[in-house]
Amino acid sequence: MLEEEIKKNINKCSRCALCVQNCPVYKIKKDENNTSRGLICKLSGFESGNLTKKEISKDLKICLNCSKCKSSCPSKVDTTLIFGYKNAEFSPSKISQRILLILKLLPIKILYFLNFFKKSITQKTKNSDIAYFKGCVAQAQHKTTYLDNLFSTEDFSCCGMPYLTGGDLKNYNKSKKKNIEIIKKYKQIVFDCASCKSAVEDYDELSMEEKNKLIFFTDFLNQKYKLKNNSKYKDKTVVFHKPCHMNNSDFIKIENFLKNIKGINYKRLEDIDSCCGFGGSYFIYHPVVSSIIASKKASTVKSSKADLILTSCPSCVIGLRYNQIISFNFKKTLELRDFIENEIEVIYS
Ligand code: SF4
Ligand code: SF4
Repeated sequence: MLEEEIKKNINKCSRCALCVQNCPVYKIKKDENNTSRGLICKLSGFESGNLTKKEISKDLKICLNCSKCKSSCPSKVDTTLIFGYKNAEFSPSKISQRILLILKLLPIKILYFLNFFKKSITQKTKNSDIAYFKGCVAQAQHKTTYLDNLFSTEDFSCCGMPYLTGGDLKNYNKSKKKNIEIIKKYKQIVFDCASCKSAVEDYDELSMEEKNKLIFFTDFLNQKYKLKNNSKYKDKTVVFHKPCHMNNSDFIKIENFLKNIKGINYKRLEDIDSCCGFGGSYFIYHPVVSSIIASKKASTVKSSKADLILTSCPSCVIGLRYNQIISFNFKKTLELRDFIENEIEVIYS
């Protein structure tokens, strides 16, 4: 029998197929077995006793975890939760799942280790009502970012996305519980990663009022800005890759912010919602599908003639760099946070 929460989500599905149309994997494979609707139909078949566990586990291993199905679902079905549940309950071996998850998180652990001995320089005057949710990769890459200097730094756990998509519901729930306790203490929580923000927004236990506390760091950038005089991006064309997990409202605000920076030419990428194809470590397990998706993104980046590509998700940064290799279009790719920290300044009038 399926868990109540999963049954509730399955029953919400109207079988409208909007998730199918928006699934980047379906666009390539044309196989509904690998879509949310396909999974939901199969789980319904399992619940009614028409399908066996084995029949469910043999398909649906090719999901990018991009959440496009979830964001396009008019019935608000939590497809990410359903996929996580399916991975936890129907995959043949829990040991193989754990090994895959360890391999996925290994580069982050190595970066942590390398950064461990670096000195941390933080200012003492910070906004104590607002906490900075520093994602695992940002923590591993940077001992301090400029956001550490502005907001309270808390010992947040991982947003839980890698655990959820990897089917490790135990660690997902553990991370979620710890993060919720911290969120409740603050007036606002600031994110610099679209995927972390989206994962935390998905915590069912948070009320709407608490979810409204979760904001993107660019919401604070409400002054006039210009490129620093010594920046190498003066008069260059800059594009922003919208991560799959970023909502439209955050994207529009970021776009307006970039348009108003004096000294750069911001240009919107064609097909702005297309995925970079990386999907965490997806390209390791599904190199063909990943490369087809990546090559589409790469061609839109190339045709934009961008000199600099910005984004707000560390996984997308890697995906975009991989795109450059396959398209022989080697341009600088940066986290938006690092660009802001190092390349722009306020215009004092
Ligand atoms: S978009 Fe939502 S309601 Fe429609 S088939 Fe997909 S999961 Fe079901
Ligand atoms: S998460 Fe992305 S790849 Fe997976 S089923 Fe949904 S739309 Fe398709």
